[in-house]
Amino acid sequence: MNIEQSKETSKIEDVVIIGSGPAAHTAAIYAGRAALTPLMFEGLFASGVAAGGQLTTTTEIENFPGFLDISVPELMTKMRDQAAHWGTKIFTETVDSIDVSQSPFTVVSDSQTVKTKTIIIATGATAQRLGLPGEETYWQKGISACAVCDGALPIFRNKPMVVIGGGDTAAEEATFLTKFASTVHLLVRRGEMRASKAMQQRVFDNKKIKIHWNTEATEAVGEKLLTGVSVINSKTKETQTITASGLFYAIGHTPNTTFLDNQLELDSTGYIITKNGTPETSIPGVFACGDVQDKVYRQAITAAGSGCQAALLAERFIG
Ligand code: FAD
Ligand code: NDP
Repeated sequence: MNIEQSKETSKIEDVVIIGSGPAAHTAAIYAGRAALTPLMFEGLFASGVAAGGQLTTTTEIENFPGFLDISVPELMTKMRDQAAHWGTKIFTETVDSIDVSQSPFTVVSDSQTVKTKTIIIATGATAQRLGLPGEETYWQKGISACAVCDGALPIFRNKPMVVIGGGDTAAEEATFLTKFASTVHLLVRRGEMRASKAMQQRVFDNKKIKIHWNTEATEAVGEKLLTGVSVINSKTKETQTITASGLFYAIGHTPNTTFLDNQLELDSTGYIITKNGTPETSIPGVFACGDVQDKVYRQAITAAGSGCQAALLAERFIG
């Protein structure tokens, strides 16, 4: 729907928050407590992920401080309730576009056009999947896209695991998983890794990691839980099924930034560039927090921390 068709009011909001993960909700709690009455667009399956963000693609979270034993739906509901408690008005709509060429800025969703003094972008990133046969069946029953999050689960203890990817994430995750796994099989689709030399060396030096060069996964197999990964060597065409209780994708993330239409400075992979270690973007008054600007840490707690920073900066910007 274009700007003319959607409902437009003359009111100018203090802050509009786009997104619904830990970064967005933390920003909303801080902005709400600062009496900025934030509006939040939480998305309607934006980028294929439910409102609540990436955590909704898993079930348990064990490393969010203060919550030793909480399910993801419960944690995200608590965050949303806390944001609403402090006066956040939440719309279950996806933002289609923004216009930050002049102040006040414009935010456009399917049903409304909003003017605002500041925008906090917390739209996250989406972990890429391979779409293997068996992937849907064994997703969260052995297959995950986050080793740091799921690697310590009891089903993986002292069992062989597979990591797919050749970048820094794959190197980091394979190394991390050796704490729990009997062996980590690293599937690299080419004859070399993309990861930095230092990260590669860490992998080469780790006796628990077995690298399978020129190797691609073809199927995830199992019974109730994943038991193995079928692979093919693209050079020799040799096939085998590697026994594994865990399969971790580390093949990259896609930041949810297409709706920005390149109005903010992005890096070559589409992440928003933030300045001086703060959520400031290339446009004063527009802030970015969480995974949409972080391709290194990518954790709920780091997203929440940067959401806090974004709200504090928005409050200062409004003055
Ligand atoms: P996200 O959680 O990515 O949420 C952003 C959301 O904004 C989107 O999902 C979407 O709903 C919404 N959105 C996107 N575009 C728009 C738009 N145009 N308009 C409106 N809304 C939009 N971290 C941990 O700390 N512990 C864990 O145990 C853990 N487990 C994980 C398990 C898996 C399988 C995955 C994939 C990740 C896991 N993570 C974990 C990482 C964690 O989920 C992320 O670091 C965190 O959710 C990032 O939060 P965020 O607020 O930046 O955005
Ligand atoms: P990258 O895009 O760097 O790497 C993705 C890897 O996955 C590549 O090796 C790629 O192979 C492989 N891959 C992609 N698609 C497929 C597929 N369909 N099948 C098999 N393999 C596939 O992503 P990362 O998440 O590793 O890193 C993203 C950015 O974050 C980088 O800039 C990285 O440096 C940074 N980072 C830094 C860290 C640190 O400094 N500690 C930690 C983690 C990330 P190919 O090489 O053949 O394209």
